[in-house]
Amino acid sequence: MARYREANCKLCRREGEKLFLKGTRCLTEKCAYERRAFAPGQHGQNMRRKISPYGLQLREKQKVRRIYGVLEKQFKNYFKKADQREGITGEILLQLLESRLDNLVYRLGFAPSRKAARQLVRHRHVTVNDRLVDIPAFQVKPNQAIRIRDKSKKMDMIHDSLKEVGRGEEMPWLRLNKAALEGELLEVPKRTDIPLTVNEQLIVELYSK
Ligand code: SF4
Repeated sequence: MARYREANCKLCRREGEKLFLKGTRCLTEKCAYERRAFAPGQHGQNMRRKISPYGLQLREKQKVRRIYGVLEKQFKNYFKKADQREGITGEILLQLLESRLDNLVYRLGFAPSRKAARQLVRHRHVTVNDRLVDIPAFQVKPNQAIRIRDKSKKMDMIHDSLKEVGRGEEMPWLRLNKAALEGELLEVPKRTDIPLTVNEQLIVELYSK
């Protein structure tokens, strides 16, 4: 499948904020955005500041897509699904993205970034309700248990990630058992519980044209 293969840090610089795509590095002074907080490329430093309403909507969509590591087509499909459901489309869109298995593995703290979480899932280290799932986009439902397989429980990456302060413990919609390396999605998160500074309404406006 096609994937974005350029430096992740360029995406943060393009969006003009930290998207936390590289795990612990994002919290150190090595963060590229901390050192060069302007768009990448030859004219990055001189880029026009004024942005049209369409531009704003587009940037917001790109930002969310990049945060969750989802391709354009997949993202559109999430939007279509959200639009067909009853409720606030923008909120449902974020709920669908939050319910992805790779995102939950990251939120629970088993991986330092969503990219690393995707690898964990793809490399068959994760089960959902005791069944091996190697599809990062798998939609986890409330009350399903996410576990690290027994044979993978000694992986340094998982333990190092869990040592990060508060990972997985601050989400009221998740339960984490650090000792057993397992967690559970307790309920679909409300928008107010999703720690994401985006205006999802702009994405709804973009796709509703
Ligand atoms: Fe973004 Fe992390 Fe790179 Fe900083 S280190 S620019 S937050 S991906």
